[in-house]
Amino acid sequence: MAALPAALLWDVDGTLAETELQGHRRAFNRAFADAGLPWHWDRSLYLQLLAIGGGRERLRYFLERANGQSPADAQVEALQASKTRHYTALVQAGALGLRPGVRRLIGEVAAAGIPQAIVTTSARRAVQALLERQLPEHRQWLGFWVCGEDVQRKKPAPDGYAVALERLALPPGRVLAIEDSANGVQAAVAAGLGVLVTRSASSALEPAAAFASAAAELDQLGEPQAAVPPAPWSPLRPSPAPPPNWTSSENRRLRCLCSAAPLAPAAASRSPICSSSCVSHDPAATPGHPI
Ligand SMILES: [Mg+2]
Repeated sequence: MAALPAALLWDVDGTLAETELQGHRRAFNRAFADAGLPWHWDRSLYLQLLAIGGGRERLRYFLERANGQSPADAQVEALQASKTRHYTALVQAGALGLRPGVRRLIGEVAAAGIPQAIVTTSARRAVQALLERQLPEHRQWLGFWVCGEDVQRKKPAPDGYAVALERLALPPGRVLAIEDSANGVQAAVAAGLGVLVTRSASSALEPAAAFASAAAELDQLGEPQAAVPPAPWSPLRPSPAPPPNWTSSENRRLRCLCSAAPLAPAAASRSPICSSSCVSHDPAATPGHPI
């Protein structure tokens, strides 16, 4: 019988709950609308933007490419603050439930006396909103949180896991991380941890090779006695169609920006928006063109 891990470290977004597409993405769009900005991140664009770890970094990356110049810090901070308010409101309204098996496993691991903690790129306020609403037992079950504010570099950098290991005072080989995304797996593996993957809706189409270093991959944590249907991205179902690349009518400007110089697949996997150099190749890319 394999030894139990000495501690469990939980990612939040996509792992505890499907927060990305239904939470963070919608909150960004509400923040854009509140600010009178014409942008709307549809699902396909957001899936590509997720290659950038951290909401603030994702926003800044988008603004740089959409505007053709670095955004003012004040604009980034104002949009991020508005987005966080909208995200918190969505969570408090109960829009984002825990994924199957999350509550069960956290409770069982806690009952077994195994320490658990959070390691996420999300802001502390967003984590708190989700846990207070969906997992009020977190105060007894989760020892501490390492959030985006606590590290210099967010995932895929291993910094958050390094902080957690230091607090646990455990060698990385005895600690298991639970992640849903390629960035998360990369961060945990770089810190020396074993990783259990439960892919989320937002990471379902990430290449399988990005998860090859995980110790195991499950559709979801599930309930041992329940008949749980396979997730939409399960190998038991037909593969979903890949997201369109810059073809949404909601993102016409970015399509324009990128149509002259489409990304090679390898580059696209790391850089969701094409390099700024392609802007100059496209005469249709005019300021104010709606996204
Ligand atoms: Mg995640």
